[in-house]
Amino acid sequence: MSRSLLSVAQQRLERALPYVSLSADAAERLKRPKRSVTVAIPVRMDNGDLKVFPGYRVRYDDTRGPAKGGIRYHPEVSLDEVETLAFWMTFKCAALDLPFGGAKGGITVDPKDLSRFELERLSRGYIDAIADFIGPDIDIPAPDVYTNQMIMGWMMDQYNIIRRQITPAVITGKPLTMGGSLGRETATAMGTFFLLEAMRPKLSRLPEQPTVAIQGFGNAGSILAELLFNAGYKVVAVSDSRGAIYSKRGLDIPSVKQFKECTRELKAVYCAGSVCHIVEHDTLTNEELLTLEVDILIPAALENQITETNAANVKAPVVFEVANGPITPAADEILEGNGIHVFPDILANAGGVTVSYFEWVQNRTGLYWTLDEVNARLKRKMVEEGENIRALAQEHAISLRTAAYAHALTRIGDAMNAKGAKQYYVEAR
Ligand code: NAD
Repeated sequence: MSRSLLSVAQQRLERALPYVSLSADAAERLKRPKRSVTVAIPVRMDNGDLKVFPGYRVRYDDTRGPAKGGIRYHPEVSLDEVETLAFWMTFKCAALDLPFGGAKGGITVDPKDLSRFELERLSRGYIDAIADFIGPDIDIPAPDVYTNQMIMGWMMDQYNIIRRQITPAVITGKPLTMGGSLGRETATAMGTFFLLEAMRPKLSRLPEQPTVAIQGFGNAGSILAELLFNAGYKVVAVSDSRGAIYSKRGLDIPSVKQFKECTRELKAVYCAGSVCHIVEHDTLTNEELLTLEVDILIPAALENQITETNAANVKAPVVFEVANGPITPAADEILEGNGIHVFPDILANAGGVTVSYFEWVQNRTGLYWTLDEVNARLKRKMVEEGENIRALAQEHAISLRTAAYAHALTRIGDAMNAKGAKQYYVEAR
C-alpha cells in the first residue's frame, strides 16, 4: 500500500526530533490533524445542471494561535493533500514565529472548466459549507494555487452575509478595497527575494551574476522572476504547466510576463511599448528545466517535482523551494549527499503567510500600513528567522530543512508544554 502524503511529510518532523527536547505528549499530538472537515458543495451550473464538488478544511494544530492556511482549487485536491498542506502550515507559522497554528483548505475542481459565474457560486458555496469552522480567532483562510484576491473577496463577503457583520479579518489576501494589505500579492516572492539576498554572501558557490531557472510562472514564480531580473540575476529558464522556455543569454522577464498576461502563452519575447516580438529561445520540458546547469533552481509550481528518480540529475548548487513540498524526503537525501543547499518551503515561501499575518493585524487594529512598512517588516522577519535557521543548521551540521523543522518544533512543543506535559503531572503525585 502506498504511504499517505501526510505520513511522508511527517518524516521531516521525525528527522528533526533528535535536535529538540520535545515532550512525548507534544510528539503524540502532532501525529494527527486536530480537525478535518469534508463538505459537499452543490453548484448550479450555467446550463442548468447541478454539480456537487468535494471540499475540505483542515485545522492541523492551533496551540500557538488561530489556524492559518490557504485554499487551493485543483483537480488533484484530496483530503490527504489538504492535511499535508495544513501540517506544513503549522511548521511554517512556527518557524516564522507568527502567532498562528496551521490550516489548509481546498476544492477538487479544475477552475479552468468553470465560467466566472460558476466560480463565484462555488466559492460562496464553500464558505456556506465551512462557515462554522472558520473565523478571525479560529481559522483564517487565504489564497493558494488557482485562487486569487477576487475569490477571497467573494468569500469574505459571503462570510459577512452569514454572520451579518463586516469581518475582514476572517480571510487574508483580499482586494485592497476590502481590507487587503499593500504588498500581499508580491509577498511570497518578496520574502524569497529578501532571504536570497541576505544569504547570498554566505553562499560561496554563487558567482557575481547567478543564473536562475524557475519552474512555475504563476503568482509566486513570475513575481520572483521579475524581482531577480531587476536585481541583475540572469533568469535563463521559466516554465508553466505546458512547458519551459530557455535562453542561455537570459530571458527578458518583464516582456515574458507581459506576453503571458496577454496571451496566456510562455515565449521569450522583446516588447517595445505594446508591441511584443518573439525572440530566439529553446523550449524545454519541465523535467529538463529541473536539471539545468544553473546556479539557483527555484521550483515554484506544485509538490513532488524533485523525486528519487531525478534528484541525482539536479545540478544547481542552491535550491529555493517556493512551491510547497516540491522535493520528496527521498530526494532530500540525494540532494544533501550531493552538497546541494536547499532552502526549505517552510522558510523560503513564508513571505506570503507573513504578510497575511500583517493583513490580519491591520484588519483588527483598523490602522493600515504603507507598502514600505509592510516590506520592511517582512524583510526583518525573513532575514532574522533565516539567520536563526542557518545558525542551527551549522551548529548541528544538519540540513537547512531539518534545522527549520527543529526551530519550529521547539516553539510548538514549548506552547504545548505550557499547558502541562506528563512530567508536570507525574512530579505532583
Ligand atoms: P499559481 O496558480 O499562481 O501558479 C502556479 C504556476 O505553476 C502556473 O504558472 C502553472 O502553469 C504552473 N504549473 C502547474 N503545474 C505545473 C507543472 N507540472 N510544471 C510546471 N509548472 C506548472 O500558484 P502560486 O500561488 O504561484 O503557487 C505556486 C506554489 O507556491 C504552490 O506550491 C503554492 O502552494 C506555493 N505558495 C504560494 C504562495 C502564494 O502566496 N502565492 C505562498 C506560499 C506558497
